Amino acid sequence: MNPESVWIFLAVLFLGGAIGFYAARRPRPSAVGAERVRGNYLAGVNFLVNEQPDRALEAFLRAAELDGDTVETHFALGSLYRRRGEVDRAIRIHQNIVARESLEPEQRGQASFALAKDYLRAGLLDRAEKILEPLAASGAHRMAAMRNLMRIYEQQQDWPRAISVFRELDKSGKAPQENAIAHYFCELAKAAHERQDLEEARTHLRAARAERRRFPRGALLRADIAIEQKDVALAERLLASVMAQDAALSIEVMPRLMRLARAAGADGDAVARRLVAARPDAGNEVAFAAIMADALDFPALEQLVRAFLAQDEAISGLVRAIGREPETLDARAVREVAVVLRRLAAMTARYRCATCGFSSINHFWQCPGCKSWDSQRPLLRFDLVAGLERGQPPA
Ligand SMILES: [Zn+2]
Repeated sequence: MNPESVWIFLAVLFLGGAIGFYAARRPRPSAVGAERVRGNYLAGVNFLVNEQPDRALEAFLRAAELDGDTVETHFALGSLYRRRGEVDRAIRIHQNIVARESLEPEQRGQASFALAKDYLRAGLLDRAEKILEPLAASGAHRMAAMRNLMRIYEQQQDWPRAISVFRELDKSGKAPQENAIAHYFCELAKAAHERQDLEEARTHLRAARAERRRFPRGALLRADIAIEQKDVALAERLLASVMAQDAALSIEVMPRLMRLARAAGADGDAVARRLVAARPDAGNEVAFAAIMADALDFPALEQLVRAFLAQDEAISGLVRAIGREPETLDARAVREVAVVLRRLAAMTARYRCATCGFSSINHFWQCPGCKSWDSQRPLLRFDLVAGLERGQPPA
């Protein structure tokens, strides 16, 4: 028997035994019925032992038809199947429970919720949604149903409904992540911005700000609009606020700083210098971001990058290996080293989720692995070994 089946096998043996015991103690009619239930369970166990899971499932379902006391066993079986990833079987078990007419309302709620979880696991969001909506209206599974609905609306990018479920959860202090709602408004703002409806985009950004006053993603999106409209002072203030809040977000700020500097024309250098000066303690983060965004045209950034190259042991070692001194590289050489580093970085993960460890080359505000918001952190270093191991950088 495959080792995973051992768990189901043991659970069924235990629960089947409990049912036999329970059925034997029941004063109600049929000793014959109880006998048949037990017979079906034994047949089920037998099929499991012989690795015939579908026939085992049939036998368990037949037992369920005969006796109402098997409901708890079936819940246990269903959740075991789901945990093993055998979602189709879990669905059949839970559908079978839901289909019973003589079910207590509490058990019906439990079975519906279990079935919704099966559908979620199978990626059948529409079916899960249909079951969860009534459960979210009332009853013991209300909060859990709403939390699951919120995740479904996120995946469907149905932000208005995600917002309203979040608000319901928040009323009871049960919202899973307090930043989520500000991200929903940012998603709406981003979509409005993409179709050039700037008025609507700004309305959503104001709503995001009303939810979370200091919210970097909202500030970055608002800065995008300000740059487009050549409102240099506002864009600079917003980008400086993002840097002040989280130096690691320099990686998001830097490409915008370049666009802003272009929009500022002759003042571009001064804008860059002021933004860099906003975080004198974060030279490495800013230098890393400047290399990635190819922002070495600005003297303030070029200086930071030069210092960064000299203080990184692995990089300065490489520079010395080609016969140069990291401290005295000319502007062209600094630029060339930056190009190589950028190419290496394109081959390795640049972000990692602090919650689940999911890593990726692109940045996601919501981790694709664990669905947490704001959990991805940039890896602010060049992994020379990993980059080189993947072969030569593309030309
Ligand atoms: Zn994650």
